[in-house]
Amino acid sequence: MKRFTTTVTSLLIAATATLAGPGMWVPLFIDSNIEDMTAEGLTLTAEQIYDANSSSLKDAIMIFGGGCTGEVVSDGGLILTNYHCGVAAVSSLSSPETDYMAHGFTARTEADELPCDGLEVRHLVRMEDVSDRVKSLDDTASINALTLAAEENGKYEVMVEEMFHGNQHIMMVYEVFKDIRLVVAPPQDLGRFGGETDNWVWPRHTADFTLFRIYAGADNKPAEYSPANKPYRPAKHLKTNINGVHEGDFAMVMGFPGSTDQYLTAAAIDALRTKVWPSVVSLRQAEMSVLEKHMAANRKTAIDYASHYSSIANGKKRTAGEIDCTARAKTVETMRSQQAAFRKDARMDTILAQMDNIFSPEYTGNELTMRLARDTWSGSRTLRLAFTMSRLVQKATDKSAIDSIATYFFAHSDIKTEREILAASIGELQRIGAQGLPSIVVKTSPKKLAKRATSGIFSDINKLRKALASPNAKELVESETATVLANALIDTWRAKAAANDSANALLHDLKAAYAYRLSEIRPDSLLAPDANFTMRIAYGRVEAPRTGIENVDRYYTTAKGIIAKNATGNPDFALADSLKTMLGGDYGRWADADGELHTCFVGSIHTTGGNSGSPTLNGRGELIGLNFDRIWNGIASDYRFDNERSRNISVDIRYVLFVIDKVCHGGHIVSQFDIVNTPTR
Ligand code: ASP
Repeated sequence: MKRFTTTVTSLLIAATATLAGPGMWVPLFIDSNIEDMTAEGLTLTAEQIYDANSSSLKDAIMIFGGGCTGEVVSDGGLILTNYHCGVAAVSSLSSPETDYMAHGFTARTEADELPCDGLEVRHLVRMEDVSDRVKSLDDTASINALTLAAEENGKYEVMVEEMFHGNQHIMMVYEVFKDIRLVVAPPQDLGRFGGETDNWVWPRHTADFTLFRIYAGADNKPAEYSPANKPYRPAKHLKTNINGVHEGDFAMVMGFPGSTDQYLTAAAIDALRTKVWPSVVSLRQAEMSVLEKHMAANRKTAIDYASHYSSIANGKKRTAGEIDCTARAKTVETMRSQQAAFRKDARMDTILAQMDNIFSPEYTGNELTMRLARDTWSGSRTLRLAFTMSRLVQKATDKSAIDSIATYFFAHSDIKTEREILAASIGELQRIGAQGLPSIVVKTSPKKLAKRATSGIFSDINKLRKALASPNAKELVESETATVLANALIDTWRAKAAANDSANALLHDLKAAYAYRLSEIRPDSLLAPDANFTMRIAYGRVEAPRTGIENVDRYYTTAKGIIAKNATGNPDFALADSLKTMLGGDYGRWADADGELHTCFVGSIHTTGGNSGSPTLNGRGELIGLNFDRIWNGIASDYRFDNERSRNISVDIRYVLFVIDKVCHGGHIVSQFDIVNTPTR
């Protein structure tokens, strides 16, 4: 298959390029944007943003956990991220007795900071353009040679990532910190204020933050957890600016956006939004309804399933928003007319026509079945446990490792909830009637199947232990209904992915060709590569959306809005009385010049999932907010950023500090921030 990997460095380093639209730019090449950024209000140099040889902004911005961003805000390794990024750690440290979810948590001293088992933070040591040494991601020999050398005997984690779908290859070298401790979590009334009602919605008032600390060995390098470890001393930490934000201010977000898909045709997006996304939404809704019922009825279930629920609900609402937004913003129509102009170029027309052809009913059908199988499996902890156990017993894994997985599952799962989730999702799969689902799913009554899957050895720790201790452990695990069902769903997922394999390989190359040809026919514009969970910088302004909806078209919110939402009686806006009092009163140094406590603001900055927890920075690279979401009205920005409607949402850093200071009584922690109060303009 043809790979478009020729001389395309110009895609990223367009020497004469001036026209940068919205995009997620690669810091290694930020030089190309500096003129534009400076004209907009940046006062930093390219080297102050990214420099592999001396400290730069990139050293303060890290991958937090498996899919978020965090930023170092003190010389003692404090790292700030979103509440929704830290909540899994908070929930696993919490019990009905301590209930850090309800009350929040504040470490009084470093000795009180709570180690978070399994949580990791990745610091990008450097990026390197290796395009001339790697021709494609299939070029494993070259990649292995490169990564082996760069790993320096296990000191670093190394990844080669493609940009522009294979036009370019960049090597990322990370150091991985494994001793991360919880320092502050706000009470969830604030950290999740607005819940699913407000998720992906503006105006917004969520204190979406948690604060951790990175610990390192005596040499300041990553080390496994040890009480002897010391707070990490970063090469760079962010200054925090509490002077306030104004509409029109230059702002930028630096972080690790997960994935975008901007090099698709209008027809492709139309096929996905009509044929695939609606059923994905309805399956997720079925799972959520069960979780909501059980979480409302039982506090332990609410704590145990908080993070599971949030991740299902978050994805579901985003997809629902994308369906709605693409309709309202006429995304498909706009792209069609934009692409019609490109198609005047014969070569581009061939590329785009080939891409249109890929999205046949067969292709979208496979895509749908694959996603439904995957989401049913991932929505059920029981199926995931069964699948994991079956893999582990086959590999004869260490017994104590198996036992600790099982122990965790039974300590944090509720079998009745598990049974009902499964019944609801199987019922929904049958209603949707997608092609090629496994016969066990199609032919069995949902309730019966769910009961069988949650009655055997995966319903009780003692039964499971007994089965695992038996000489027939493999057979016992394999013959369980939960295992059969889990394997059937995984097989379907794999088979459907395989059925679309060659179409997806072609699609990958067509996206590369589309980007490449675009750079040829529009040589004066700078193209941004799709996000792929590598470090990026996006910039724009603090700016209200222009939707024509009065309540939406504003750029900031205040604590008054929290009180007003609370008065509606919607449980997603519930507030303990003590919080209500604090939010209604003395804001101290965290108040804006207008006397109000500003809570969140929006900007015209291109972000996506993975940017959760990213710093929102002013033109001097100082922290003014914490990015956490996008707005419903422009949410389809993964496919096309709409200048009028697409906006990212940040918590105002003054609200974060107010909560740490006044609500969490963390004055001793606030004093560790490097606070400045100089006007941005
Ligand atoms: N809140 C979002 C998420 O969790 C972040 C974004 O996509 O803008 O994925």
